[in-house]
Order: sequence, then structure tokens, then C-alpha cells
Amino acid sequence: MHRIVFLGPPGAGKGTQAAEVARRLGIPHLSTGELLRSAAAEQSPLGVEADGYIRAGHLVPDPLVLRVLGERLERPDARGGFLLDGFPRTVAQAEALGRVTALDRVVAFEIPEAMLLERLTQRRHCPNCRRIYNLATSPPRVAGRCDDDQSPLEQRSDDRPSAVRTRLKVYLEQTAPLVAYYRDLGLLVTVDATGTPSEVRARIEASLSRA
Ligand code: AMP
Repeated sequence: MHRIVFLGPPGAGKGTQAAEVARRLGIPHLSTGELLRSAAAEQSPLGVEADGYIRAGHLVPDPLVLRVLGERLERPDARGGFLLDGFPRTVAQAEALGRVTALDRVVAFEIPEAMLLERLTQRRHCPNCRRIYNLATSPPRVAGRCDDDQSPLEQRSDDRPSAVRTRLKVYLEQTAPLVAYYRDLGLLVTVDATGTPSEVRARIEASLSRA
């Protein structure tokens, strides 16, 4: 079964890769960031609470994240496998996940820190279909419009420089220890996340097929 986690700093390309790899494997792509952003857009009580943390670049408290993820994991399409993107982000979350499901692979994205800031500030997304663009390396055909549905592209509130700095710090302090955690469990594969999306995808697929 494919029960996969993508682990890596913000801006490493997890979301871009997860969408495509999950589609090709026929498993759902579960992004806690996306789930929380949709809850925020719908103005549900949980979403409104999460939104302040997201905008500041802080982690959303575990009870909220575990609730949205737990509900999503229980849906029937996740029974045959899933690709988790952005969860777990702390050892406590990894332990909580370990209590509800086994994992088959954890793919750690490796990328020089200097490239992250560049990727995050150039990132735009389509609020309608969620497609992700990079203004420098994979821009839309028509400036400011999604190639697929022509919606105006948006920048995430937490991709602005002050929140980006906080997110990178939070990653190093709270999430990076998961690399050793999953290596010790024998689940980790590392992937060079520099290069074009298709180069990175080929490396990920090779590392999953060796598994
Ligand atoms: P992402 O889309 O994965 O970059 O997540 C965007 C933001 O959502 C993060 O900066 C956090 O504020 C929040 N978030 C997403 N996943 C988690 C998580 N596993 N734990 C805590 N906060 C999260």
C-alpha cells in the first residue's frame, strides 16, 4: 500500500510534487495546509481560529490540526493509501499519526535554504483549482491568470517575507527533527529537491519504487 509522507521545509516543492505523484499513484493528496485554508475560507469556527496562526507563519495548535486531518483520513478514499503533505510537523504529531496508521515511506525533500526564500516569494496559486505557479520558473501563459481556468492568481498570505522567516524558523526548530525520527524507524528516503518539477518527480518516483 502507499501510505506516504512528504517532509521538507516550506518552499521545497512538496505541494507541487504531492499533487502529481498522488494523481499518478491513484491516492488522495492530503495537505493539512490546504484543509486549514479551506476551513478559513469557509469561515468555520475552526478555520477562523486557525487563520491567525497561518498568517503569522506559526503552527496551528495540534487539537485543530488533528481534528481536520482525522476527519479527512476517515473518508473512504483514504483507506487504500494516501499522500500526506505538511503533516506531521512535530514529533508529537508524528506520534499521534503513528497511533492511527502505519506508514510505508517518508520522503524528505533536501534543498539549500537560500533557494527556499526565492521559491516562496515567487509562488502564486489558483484559488479555484489550486494549481501552483512560480513566476520565475513555471509562470502562467497569460500573466496573472491560471492556465487551466483563467482565474486570477493569488499569493498566499503567509508567503510574504515576515511570515516566511517565521515559517523557516519553525521548520528548523520543530519539523526538521522528524528527519532523524523517521530515519530511526527505517521509513526515510531523501530526495534532492533542486531542479525542475519533472526532474524532482522522477527522483521521487525512483525512490518510491526502490522502497
Ligand atoms: P502548508 O500549506 O503546508 O505550507 O501550511 C500552511 C500553514 O498551515 C502552516 O504554516 C501552518 O500555519 C498551518 N499548518 C499546516 N499543516 C500544519 C500542521 N501539520 N501542524 C500545524 N500547523 C499546520
